[in-house]
Amino acid sequence: MLTISNLTVSYGLHRALGDVSLNVSAGEIVVMLGANGAGKSTLLRSVAGICEGQTGGRIDLSGKDILTRKSDEIVEAGIAFVPEGRGIFGDLTVWENLMLGAYSERGRRGKTKNLDWVLELFPKLKERKSQLARTMSGGEQQMVAIGRAMMANPEILMLDEPSLGLSPLLCKELFENLSHIRETGMGVLLVEQNAKQSLAIADRGYLIENGEITGENTAAAMLTDPAVQAAYLGGGAGSENRSQGGEDG
Ligand code: ATP
Repeated sequence: MLTISNLTVSYGLHRALGDVSLNVSAGEIVVMLGANGAGKSTLLRSVAGICEGQTGGRIDLSGKDILTRKSDEIVEAGIAFVPEGRGIFGDLTVWENLMLGAYSERGRRGKTKNLDWVLELFPKLKERKSQLARTMSGGEQQMVAIGRAMMANPEILMLDEPSLGLSPLLCKELFENLSHIRETGMGVLLVEQNAKQSLAIADRGYLIENGEITGENTAAAMLTDPAVQAAYLGGGAGSENRSQGGEDG
């Protein structure tokens, strides 16, 4: 279980997160909704140990404080992160990208089982295993990125705006795939602008505004909450489909 308690992050004089507390359990999908600049990426980057700001508070993974650990130790502890823009190695093949995901001791331990999961979830990756990652479509590259993160055998998988740039059809497929990841027992912490589709597959959600958590509820309750509807589901700026007309249309 991931438990974030009173996390604060400042970039110089700018306080990007103030007293953020949240948790993600095994087998649970938690979505974080917030406007541009609210601090969502800062939160995920802090958990992954790659935030450039000054941090305070606690981040516990199964009882161990990971806030001051290095990023490779955090991967070893059981956190995998798919950053915005995917972060795959374009000049390596699909297979090489997946194998790089299993470089940690933790990843090597579960390699065969994880590979089976990844290929069951994304059969296309098996068909395309020799293809250079940069020559794949945006949706396929997102599969490589998620597959690579799963190869690290994480307890918690974090994804920063995975639907960005995908066509509506590929978005649908992506969210279906994410809902299947829950069946492996992993906890998923998802940052999304696509509120409707992410809440539809999530168990719980948090709202973040100006670096503070301003709401928390079950995903089902959030979908029908008038305030959430007005801010994130009403078709206004940054709402449901920032990704429409994306690269894979
Ligand atoms: P978006 O949806 O636009 O990606 P976000 O909610 O992920 O936004 P963050 O990227 O976490 O927001 O940024 C939160 C605030 O911290 C913003 O005001 C941003 O300008 C600032 N910030 C983020 N990274 C840095 C950095 N490396 N140095 C200085 N300020 C930063």
